[in-house]
Amino acid sequence: METKKLLEDSGIYLMHTYNRFPIVLKKGRGMKVWNWDGKEYLDFVGGIATNCLGHCHPKVVIAVQKQVQRLIHVSNFYHIEPQIRLARTLVTHSFADKAFFCNSGAEANEAAIKLARRYFKENLGQNKFEIIATVNSFHGRTLATLTATGQDKFKIGFDPLLPGIRHVEFNNIEALKNAVTKETCAILLEPIQGESGVRIPAPDYLKQVRKLCDDNNVLLILDEVQTGIGRTGKLFSYEHSGITPDIMTLAKGLGGGVPIGAMLATDKVAEAFQPGTHGTTFGGNPLACIAALATLEVVLEDGFVLDQCKRMGKYFKKRLEELKKDFPEIIMEIRGMGLLIGMELVRDCAPIVTACMERGMLINCTSGNVLRFMPPLIVTEKEIDSLVDVLEQVFDTLS
Ligand SMILES: *Cc1c(COP(=O)(O)O)cnc(C)c1O
Repeated sequence: METKKLLEDSGIYLMHTYNRFPIVLKKGRGMKVWNWDGKEYLDFVGGIATNCLGHCHPKVVIAVQKQVQRLIHVSNFYHIEPQIRLARTLVTHSFADKAFFCNSGAEANEAAIKLARRYFKENLGQNKFEIIATVNSFHGRTLATLTATGQDKFKIGFDPLLPGIRHVEFNNIEALKNAVTKETCAILLEPIQGESGVRIPAPDYLKQVRKLCDDNNVLLILDEVQTGIGRTGKLFSYEHSGITPDIMTLAKGLGGGVPIGAMLATDKVAEAFQPGTHGTTFGGNPLACIAALATLEVVLEDGFVLDQCKRMGKYFKKRLEELKKDFPEIIMEIRGMGLLIGMELVRDCAPIVTACMERGMLINCTSGNVLRFMPPLIVTEKEIDSLVDVLEQVFDTLS
């Protein structure tokens, strides 16, 4: 089928929930993807921080190929080895004692909100139900996680939303202190706000939030759906902060591109979920778990990937800072950790994304004026240089 016909059919048959670019992607390897007509692109979007090992990493491909011939799905009525092994791997490498598997970031956050409420009501018999989230956060599109999301533009037309969720300014400990009441059960945060433009809090913010939680018997839920699985140079970004959460959610990079979400918690909190209290048909499915195991194995292997992420993150930021010197009238600020990098512009960035795409580079624009770069953690200096060259050409045509 031709590209033109595919795009026509897309318009006819798919609900118009995305403003997609007019290209059809067919194949990917590492940093590269190809469209239906064979045009090659370097992918600095990486499925929005999801293809952490690049496209079709051989270890993930082989693991899934083997598993797909052995067992594709069974109900969570039964034990399966990949799910047990994945839980053990995540628990071994994190603060957590227990894992619950689901299929997406929103579901992981939904589970976290349910667990936090149930922990206080059922285990402690306390009337604590309120979740405090932050302005400009993003936590997903289900009704509870949409309510927790601190951006009004996503909420239009979906009233009434979930009661018992409030928002305060991000990176403002005083605002949080003032918001906590005796009914507060959890504070829900992204360690770095990704969707709203790579906003990084002050270095001691998470420490202060942890203390506030401890002082008030409030749970800390960290949404690491975007920042987890090596994205910031550590396996989980809370490791930079010197504190641990009570609950953490993961998705995006966890399966190396295969859909899987996870909610991790300490034993104390996890006990609030008992047989029948929460579940999902596909959660922890053998294929998804095998993909996540293969992904984690590669990410953790000799620290190579985490190291590469740190070095390339530094290099990427340095190259973008150089670009900023050449175009101070367009570029406002570069910020990021590891390979989650935002470049805030003084202008709308959509036309820049289109111009880069025409020149074979896929990049993302978020929050209207922030270019967000989330390449696979295996990106090289040469590939970063190619992107910066293209950005330079594009900015030249603008100034
Ligand atoms: C993407 C994202 C989500 C939602 O994940 P889905 O898999 O799209 O449901 C939640 N939180 C954060 C921080 C995200 O970046």
